[in-house]
Amino acid sequence: MDTIIALATPPGRSAIGVIRISGNQTLPFTRALLFEDQYSPEPGCATLNNIKNPINGALIDRALVTFFQSPNSFTGEDVVEISCHGSPVILRQVVDALLDLGGRLAGPGEFTLRALGAGKINLSQAEAIRDVINARTEAAAQQALRQLSGELSTQLQPLKDRLLNVIVILESALEFVEDDLPEVENERIKITIAELISEVAKMASSFASGHLLRDGFKVTLVGRPNTGKSSLFNALLRSDRAIVTDIPGTTRDTLSEVLNIGGLPVLLTDTAGVRESTNYVEGIGVERTRRAMADADLLLVVLDGTSDLTADDFDFLRLTAGQKRVIAVNKSDLPTFRSYLQMELDGQARAVDVSAKAGSGLDTLCEAIVEPFAFVSANESGLLITDARHYDLLQRTQVELESSLRSLEEHASEELVLIGLHNALRYLGEITGETTAEDVLSRIFSTFCIGK
Ligand code: GDP
Repeated sequence: MDTIIALATPPGRSAIGVIRISGNQTLPFTRALLFEDQYSPEPGCATLNNIKNPINGALIDRALVTFFQSPNSFTGEDVVEISCHGSPVILRQVVDALLDLGGRLAGPGEFTLRALGAGKINLSQAEAIRDVINARTEAAAQQALRQLSGELSTQLQPLKDRLLNVIVILESALEFVEDDLPEVENERIKITIAELISEVAKMASSFASGHLLRDGFKVTLVGRPNTGKSSLFNALLRSDRAIVTDIPGTTRDTLSEVLNIGGLPVLLTDTAGVRESTNYVEGIGVERTRRAMADADLLLVVLDGTSDLTADDFDFLRLTAGQKRVIAVNKSDLPTFRSYLQMELDGQARAVDVSAKAGSGLDTLCEAIVEPFAFVSANESGLLITDARHYDLLQRTQVELESSLRSLEEHASEELVLIGLHNALRYLGEITGETTAEDVLSRIFSTFCIGK
């Protein structure tokens, strides 16, 4: 394998910047950087070294160099990590020097891909590494760490073993027995398949919580202009001092941030950009708002409590009626029409009095936002399915098992029963990567960071 290079820490200035090297040229490259032909480091020990330009010997930095010897490294290859001073100028020089020596810049997740190839981890563990890095709450990080420790494969293994047992019995019946399987054996197989179906279904059902815990749920603020959506958006972000992260792909039309409400990641989106349109509900804004609304797990309809409900307000109440929603009656610091609004809103949704300006009512609003998602527990003790790919494969497994069970009940041929069972086994294997096509792998690894 060629030798790959990456900056493993974010670009920009920092106290320390780490450069990773992996491949069979790792040691020769490091020797060239240190200007020491005889350099032979102790594996796992960090040493302070002068890093020099391999061509002219000019000093680039004094840095800590750690060597991980094959096969006892993350990738299974010789790996060196150089912890330089976190200056982009220094890091650039070191990376350039390594490229001049014949290294290649690593693609996203390429170190992890090598770890996978070397059998150091399985595919679901590789995905867990990405999820640990991307976790937005402690609960999401906990779930990812459990998957990283191999818990998912540990849970799947007994299912695969039992399925394989059934396959072996049916295959040998096919090979060696003239007659059909005895009825008792047939019944036992049916029971086993039914049990497998229910276990796979149970695992798959945890995705409803798991994906919300990992990806967060989308809450979109909607309402006519000037009800205070942007003010409320900012007030909610200020009240959450835990994490505020940039979301890639944020457009000028909508602004999204992540809030941590009781350990659950909430992706809050303000449809601020659509405010210019005068004939709001019929204007171009409505198209964008509708899109944001369709994508939301919950809508936060913002009303201005100081004024009567307008035709636009009624339009929003009507448009959002079919979805999970909470109504925020804003500007409660001013005299409001609350009693009137309450009359209008009774029975329609939970309405919460808030003041974005005074910062009051925000806790109650947050409680109301997460209330419909109470089934997602941030303190979940079991392993949850958090990845859509795993969920999809579990569902496919279930469909195949169900079709095999039906075939058995209809006394169809063993060949027919076996088709479904083999497919089910293959799908289970795809979760941990035993049977995963190249294109699926490259799709998964394109979602990783460089240097991981
Ligand atoms: P948007 O168009 O719905 O995003 O509304 P803005 O957040 O831009 O607010 C519209 C106007 O209402 C601004 O002048 C805000 O200062 C004001 N406003 C927003 N929230 C409150 C509030 O809770 N109390 C009072 N008194 N004014 C508010």
